[in-house]
Amino acid sequence: MELTEQQEQQLNTIKNNLAGVQQKIATACHKTGRELSSVQLLPVTKTVPAERLRLAFAAGCTEMGENKIKEAREKSEALSDLNIKWSIIGHLQTNKVKYVARFAHEFQALDSLKIAEELDKRLQIEGRSMDVLVQVNSSGEASKFGLPPEDVRAFIMNLPNFSSLRIKGLMTLAIFSTDHERVRQCFTKMRTLREMLQQEAPTHLSFDELSMGMSGDYEIAIEEGATILRVGQAIFGKRDLPDSHYWPGITS
Ligand SMILES: *Cc1c(COP(=O)(O)O)cnc(C)c1O
Repeated sequence: MELTEQQEQQLNTIKNNLAGVQQKIATACHKTGRELSSVQLLPVTKTVPAERLRLAFAAGCTEMGENKIKEAREKSEALSDLNIKWSIIGHLQTNKVKYVARFAHEFQALDSLKIAEELDKRLQIEGRSMDVLVQVNSSGEASKFGLPPEDVRAFIMNLPNFSSLRIKGLMTLAIFSTDHERVRQCFTKMRTLREMLQQEAPTHLSFDELSMGMSGDYEIAIEEGATILRVGQAIFGKRDLPDSHYWPGITS
């Protein structure tokens, strides 16, 4: 595509931001003796217009994370000529499941049996399957979705073998805090939980993936074993609305 001067600039900004994030990921991996290939960056594209996502795709972003179904759907339609894998990282309501079953590649926020059932049913209708992560509320904040850590084992043990859902691991949002130790505690809790599930879960479920770490805390998440980093603002710039808009009731 022919780029205007403004688009050239936007493309360069995205490329530079991506390079900066990748550099920090490499440093954190090196520091903790982890392979770079064990950590995947999922660009989070909420509020970024489709036209700018075209540039992000050109800069190498082939997977994009969205938390709102309507927005994700509209973008997936506007960008259907590009081979983008859409990951739904936000809470899902039953009446939206059918849309997700059509266009999403992955769902990271499973926290109820009802949604699992509905998603499996809809995927079968579509003749598709999907990677799924179970969302855990590692911070204990009422504003966050996800299962309490102590309920996860029972939840997955009671999860029927849904043939269209490929359970791959866990997802969490740490507490929003400038106190790194409190953030780290959320991630450590997740790592411990994953270790337990890797040993005890039924064999058709896999718990190797740990999706944790956002723009403000992904380096800590790497140190604690994250395999998927969900990073938005560090790539696309600050959002207009503060985090409290997306997660009402958060304190810090
Ligand atoms: C917005 C969002 C992110 C990314 O947050 P940034 O601060 O933009 O890096 C990660 N995970 C979820 C679930 C989100 O909604």
